[in-house]
Amino acid sequence: MQHPVFAANWKMNHGPTAARAFVTAFLERFAPRQDRTVILFPPALSMAVVGWSLRDRQDIGLGVQNISTEDKGAFTGENSAPMARDAGARYALVGHSERRHVFGESDEETAKKCAAAVRSQLTPMLCVGELLAEREAGTTETVVLRQLRAGQLSHDDVSTMAIAYEPVWAIGTGRTATPQDAAAVHATIRAALVALIGDRGKDVPILYGGSVNAGNARSLLDAPGVNGLLVGGASLEPEGWTTICSA
Ligand code: PEP
Repeated sequence: MQHPVFAANWKMNHGPTAARAFVTAFLERFAPRQDRTVILFPPALSMAVVGWSLRDRQDIGLGVQNISTEDKGAFTGENSAPMARDAGARYALVGHSERRHVFGESDEETAKKCAAAVRSQLTPMLCVGELLAEREAGTTETVVLRQLRAGQLSHDDVSTMAIAYEPVWAIGTGRTATPQDAAAVHATIRAALVALIGDRGKDVPILYGGSVNAGNARSLLDAPGVNGLLVGGASLEPEGWTTICSA
């Protein structure tokens, strides 16, 4: 397994001015490290300025928070995978819980977005995770595996993805999964990936996300099968984000 991945999802925060200030402050604090991968997911309007600010830091990747299912055309307000790639993105978040549960995105749309990302040589970071009611009903595994399989990619393409396990009840709530809870679901996802694509499934990074902060990052990273962290709120401030990336 490769080194851990630290991914920052800024959601709808940090327009171009704030994004430039963030990157300047972060780069002052975070020297290049060969033993980890750092990825920033700014809002689409800030991607160009973040890409420019990172031009001398090949060690930090850029990703887009959402893409259209389509590559171009009459889809006012949408951003396509080819445009994201052109703007410097190498990763695309797909199926984030806010896309699924605030914007009503279906498994079918998520599958199309994974395919759109792959068509444009973007690594899809597919987010999966159960609602609190689903966890309480004992259906976590069923939900997560359904969302995972809905990706419908070819075996070669699955091997190029990243997965983020983000229990919906832990996102932005301050309520984090225990390392044991995370490890159990990560093991389920890993087994499904190996069943799908054999040994190559062992190398697909599986990140944990949901109220990660500087205080709990290390213990979550130490959980068996956790290959990285996807961080929302605690990634918005350069000092805290530096601490997390140094965990
Ligand atoms: C997220 O938005 O992917 C996320 C995990 O948010 P938070 O860290 O704020 O829970």
